[in-house]
Amino acid sequence: MYPNTQLYINGNWCAAAAGRTLPVVNPANGNQIGTVAYAGRADLDRALEAADQGFKTWRKVSAFERAKVMRTAASLLRERADAVAAMMTMEQGKPLPEARLEVLAGADIIDWFAEEGRRAYGRVIPARAEGIYQLVIKEPVGPVAAFTPWNFPINQVVRKLSAALATGCSIIVKAPEETPASPAELIRAFADAGVPAGVINLVYGDPAEISSYLIPHPVIRKITFTGSTPVGKQLAALAGSHMKRATMELGGHAPVIIFDDADVDLAAKTMTFMKYRNAGQVCVSPTRFLVQEGIYASFVEKFVAHTKAIKVGDGFDKDTKMATLANPRRSRAMETHVADAKKHGGKVQTGGYPIGEKGNFFEPTVVTELSEDAMAMNNEPFGPLAIINPFKNFDDAVSEANRLPYGLAAYAWTRSAKTANAIAASVETGMMTINHLGLALPEVPFGGVKDSGYGSEGGSEAIEAYLNPKFVSQAGL
Ligand code: NAD
Repeated sequence: MYPNTQLYINGNWCAAAAGRTLPVVNPANGNQIGTVAYAGRADLDRALEAADQGFKTWRKVSAFERAKVMRTAASLLRERADAVAAMMTMEQGKPLPEARLEVLAGADIIDWFAEEGRRAYGRVIPARAEGIYQLVIKEPVGPVAAFTPWNFPINQVVRKLSAALATGCSIIVKAPEETPASPAELIRAFADAGVPAGVINLVYGDPAEISSYLIPHPVIRKITFTGSTPVGKQLAALAGSHMKRATMELGGHAPVIIFDDADVDLAAKTMTFMKYRNAGQVCVSPTRFLVQEGIYASFVEKFVAHTKAIKVGDGFDKDTKMATLANPRRSRAMETHVADAKKHGGKVQTGGYPIGEKGNFFEPTVVTELSEDAMAMNNEPFGPLAIINPFKNFDDAVSEANRLPYGLAAYAWTRSAKTANAIAASVETGMMTINHLGLALPEVPFGGVKDSGYGSEGGSEAIEAYLNPKFVSQAGL
């Protein structure tokens, strides 16, 4: 049922040269379910050589032909969605329908980027003299090194991979060792669709060893990373010191601002779903709920009621709405956050404890009236923890929303267009969604500001990140 995952280098699925592997564990019960190949320096050198050659091949393929191959990969992924989703639930824990949705959304992302690659237009700039043509031509940036985390094993890879392939770049993906099989299946869909050898390479191993070797390597021209802010800062510094372009999609601590005039029922229901999706292990997860005094009690009551109704269980049980956390680090982090919240005056309205003896299950947790210096008010919980605090007026809400160095996603609820416009203009964030959940579609920008990183993983902005503008000024003879 669950495969041992190999490396994919220069068009071949292979073991690591040194034969090393790492165990892969099912987070719902702690049992080993397989292994993943662990790349050493020799494997990375082969991947670099392959990416170098692969780039030379792929950049010459027209955007029209590249799109055809990509769309075939998307179709294969759709056909295989059930099997791939089951692997994802086994290795990551998330409920099977969430895993299936992620696979299918991945196919949509491939399709969108395939088409957008055909629209990587340059431009013609009016010249100052007759007979001069001033052209801006978009060229692929070159071989890319991509580093992706375990929370969305396919989604985090597919955005980077699709943008790279659509623009004519080759890529080395360092996918997550804890959830290796589903991203490998994503790459298998591209391999089976006919992407030439060397264009896509897949490695696993020691993340720090791999990034510190690939980022400075002269073959690599662009770095893209999704993960925590501290690691992102290290990788961005390394990329900067070697003059490599970089996209950094890092941590968040999303504020949810709910005004007195909001639809409280809809806000409570919608935001409960969003909070506990993937057990809160989502960079855009709503974390700091700021609720205006007039509706505070009512919102807390409704949100807590929805939270208590969430059925926690194995990702394969059809009634499960929230499953295990993806690794023991996350459940330990939840315990630490809750203990610290209690010390800082937080009232635990529901949850707060691990569930069961096996796996990394943790109760969906709501803490209210938490003071500003509590750990969870400052560090990304990255788990099933919602914090709800009251605010008096617009300025108080904005000041709390902007207090942290993060700026990835923000949410707001109000029936007033004037308030909606004002809050969208005032919060320091890369993305804001008001009165509904509207983030992360392939065609819209996805990315942060401040310590949440830079660059976009969605929309036409994501394509631009893989293109260099070349200016050509040409005079007729
Ligand atoms: P972590 O910070 O060690 O790792 C986060 C990710 O970065 C992992 O995928 C890891 O393999 C990778 N990584 C770590 N060091 C690296 C290096 N030197 N070079 C290349 N990749 C490296 O911790 P973790 O326990 O895996 O996750 C904890 C925190 O990471 C979470 O609390 C959350 O803040 C953040 N995170 C964010 C996202 C996201 O979607 N933005 C996803 C996963 C984790």
